[in-house]
Amino acid sequence: MIKKILIANRGEIACRIIRTCKFMGIKTLVIYSEADEHSLHVRESDEAVFIGESPADKSYLNYKKIVKVALENKVDAVHPGYGFLSENPNFAMELKKKKIKFIGPSVFSMKSMSLKNDARSMMEKAGVPVLPGFSADSLSYEQIVKKCENIGFPLIIKASAGGGGKGMHVISKREEIKSKLAGAKREALSSFGNDSILIEKYLENPRHIEVQILADNHDNIYTLSDRDCSIQRRHQKVIEEAPAPNIKPEVRKEMALQAKRVAKNIAYSGAGTIEFLFEKESFYFMEMNTRLQVEHPVTELILGLDLVELQIRVANNEKIILDDDKLKIKGHSIEARVYAEVPEEDFKPSPGKISKLIFPNNKYLRVDTGYVSGDEVSPYYDPMISKIISYGKDRDDAITKLSGAISNTHLVGIKSNLNFLYKILNVAAFKDKKISTGFINKYWHKLVPNRENMDLLIQLSIAAYLKTRKSDKNHSHIDPWSNDRNWRHLENDSEEISIRCDKKILNYMVKNIDYNKVIMSEGNDKKKNTFTYLFDEMSDDLSLIYKNNKIDFYFLAFNNKTIYINVKGNSLTSEIINKYYMDLSSESSVGSMDAPVPGKIAKVFVKKNQIVKKGDVLVIIEAMKMEHSITAPYSGKVIKVEAIEGEQVNEGFTVAQMEVK
Ligand code: ADP
Repeated sequence: MIKKILIANRGEIACRIIRTCKFMGIKTLVIYSEADEHSLHVRESDEAVFIGESPADKSYLNYKKIVKVALENKVDAVHPGYGFLSENPNFAMELKKKKIKFIGPSVFSMKSMSLKNDARSMMEKAGVPVLPGFSADSLSYEQIVKKCENIGFPLIIKASAGGGGKGMHVISKREEIKSKLAGAKREALSSFGNDSILIEKYLENPRHIEVQILADNHDNIYTLSDRDCSIQRRHQKVIEEAPAPNIKPEVRKEMALQAKRVAKNIAYSGAGTIEFLFEKESFYFMEMNTRLQVEHPVTELILGLDLVELQIRVANNEKIILDDDKLKIKGHSIEARVYAEVPEEDFKPSPGKISKLIFPNNKYLRVDTGYVSGDEVSPYYDPMISKIISYGKDRDDAITKLSGAISNTHLVGIKSNLNFLYKILNVAAFKDKKISTGFINKYWHKLVPNRENMDLLIQLSIAAYLKTRKSDKNHSHIDPWSNDRNWRHLENDSEEISIRCDKKILNYMVKNIDYNKVIMSEGNDKKKNTFTYLFDEMSDDLSLIYKNNKIDFYFLAFNNKTIYINVKGNSLTSEIINKYYMDLSSESSVGSMDAPVPGKIAKVFVKKNQIVKKGDVLVIIEAMKMEHSITAPYSGKVIKVEAIEGEQVNEGFTVAQMEVK
């Protein structure tokens, strides 16, 4: 019986595996690198062992060291998650030698699928449909050209040992073969340590459909529905759903049959995925992933199963009995991957500190996250932050729920693809099930932010700032003695507000013409925008009437000057620089334990491991002869105190670290 598991992974998948282990009464041990010392998976597991420096080859890929840790800490099994060592037969073999269970298939099954070339030819022999193609490894250039011409262009070159969408090159005509082939070989060798190359027919507008399977060691193989993962950027999945929509029942059935055949052919055991390309009612085997997939939650939600639990039970050698009722699909589920990246800058990763991360919570949603407020997204690993998964009675319902969930997710501190995800779900073609791997390119113009959006976000930020100021008791809008602006007796007050966003400073003239009505103009722009803002004292939601449209948005204000705005996942964090309003008194940092101003640490009230309540004062900073209290943003335990009495600190210095209790 498995009583203790080492999780050889990090981020959301490590946390997700811990969740199932807790419920099964299994102890967990995680490994962590230098960059992950304070990460969520370390905080959530029973035990954690430092494994090495931050680069993956020094930590999460160092399988010899991981096996040593597993032995020393007497674990019964290792769960590899996805990525890292999950498909590395050497790791599985090393564990086997030490009599530690690898939660995954046998070394033989893994090896059969580890090279795309070998997997493809094996499946072709077994009668599974594949696209016309060939291995380019032991052929002369002339032979390759001949074979390419026989199949016809376009073609795709793939690194046989490739993964994660890398190492693929499309050849659209004969003249491109030579250079692309040489480039692909070089890239394959440097990225995957193997220059084996495969060339196959390139489908221009296919769908990516995959079948989830589960096999035990007692001859039971189940197909657990299918998923559509066609919404991809750079051949990497962004949105996935189950079941795959718009597929004729007979084709779906045939695909499941073929998937079962693939699994049987390699005596598969555990959870695995057979990936197909699908076009014009035909499907072709692409590859098999011999591990848990990122997108497994959508399958779990429509079947009410826990795939990690099933993997552990298979590793325990249990017989798995799933009757027809268990395998009946209920409803529809969609997953969106939230990445720390900038879609409009070619999906450039944007690591950094997350000052605030808030997810909505209801019974139709599941959030698998590797991060919480205050955590740091490290540049060393995949920038995926979390997965938001919705469940609906049908596809439309699941889209509505996911789209609502994304617009109510608040991520402050770093850039993300949240708005991009929101827009994908709301493009008519997505709702109409017109999905293919070319979707993001085709609808790119509808998915990227535009200038008009930006103007609106800035105006909303100013409205939010005005609301924050209004609700601040120390700064009554009506009382001229405590008024913070250039108050005039006869004239309605007009003020200059500067706002800094993305390193640019924009100046606005803002004039209050009524209690909640404002006219504002940018710089010397004579074109004036009028907006009315409506707000509720009790909530953070604000709505604004602009050009006769009511716009609902959400905001957070930090230190009375940093404003975060979110309109349907379209967010902006900016800073207000108002020369008439320099509030340094009674300041407390909300949702952050960072120094709001540069100053001297006057008093430290807490120690490591101290339990504090939300609002308790942690530290007092003295600046310009005034004191600023930094209070606990939530109830919890102080895990680190960085502030030292008497020391000078810069703005943004993190005085303490806490964990939620
Ligand atoms: P990886 O192992 O790197 O994830 P895959 O072989 O699974 O690579 O392919 C990833 C994606 O690349 C597919 O989902 C699809 O979008 C695209 N792709 C792969 N092969 C082809 C092909 N023959 N024609 C068109 N697109 C393809």
